[in-house]
Amino acid sequence: MQRVYIGLGSNLAQPQQQLTAALQALAALPGCQLQQVSSFYLSDPLGPADQPHYVNAVAALDCPLQPLELLDALQAIEQQHGRVRKAERWGPRTLDLDILLFGELQLDEERLTVPHYHMHARAFVLYPLAEIAADLALPDGRTLADLLAACPFEGLERLADACAQPPDPGCTG
Ligand code: ATP
Ligand code: MG
Ligand code: MG
Repeated sequence: MQRVYIGLGSNLAQPQQQLTAALQALAALPGCQLQQVSSFYLSDPLGPADQPHYVNAVAALDCPLQPLELLDALQAIEQQHGRVRKAERWGPRTLDLDILLFGELQLDEERLTVPHYHMHARAFVLYPLAEIAADLALPDGRTLADLLAACPFEGLERLADACAQPPDPGCTG
């Protein structure tokens, strides 16, 4: 069993509901236990600016799957949520599920890089992660506290708790 941190993001088709449903799908993965979920955050889009804001969150999952098995499972959930992969990088999407950390694993393969290659510089990853794992360090020894100190809380807005806790049919994103 590994402790895995997953970054969730959506900016189409009622993003908060996308995340809420995705969390339920994560909890239902074989042998996996969803341990913690951050608040939901509204964030400025990365890349093309002519797209809706994102809703982001980070989840802690205890998971017996192998790294590529987990990636396959996450991509299957993305597909089930109607994600269409387009040529344009960082374009709008119904659901993005990224593996941020997989235990202490460091891996750089064609399909999978962990820790996620850009998590250290993304406010929409680091601030939610800090909510659920403030004392965390990356496998290379960098602490989350140091990463946060170098990453301003910009372009980010924490959403009300009521919307962050699934399920809440009143929160439509
Ligand atoms: P970014 O990776 O910059 O957040 P993105 O999430 O929009 O961009 P995707 O289109 O979701 O990128 O994924 C592109 C490819 O990244 C996937 O096909 C997957 O094989 C690969 N990938 C590499 N490392 C990871 C990781 N840690 N988590 C998820 N996908 C990864
Ligand atoms: Mg991503
Ligand atoms: Mg992705």
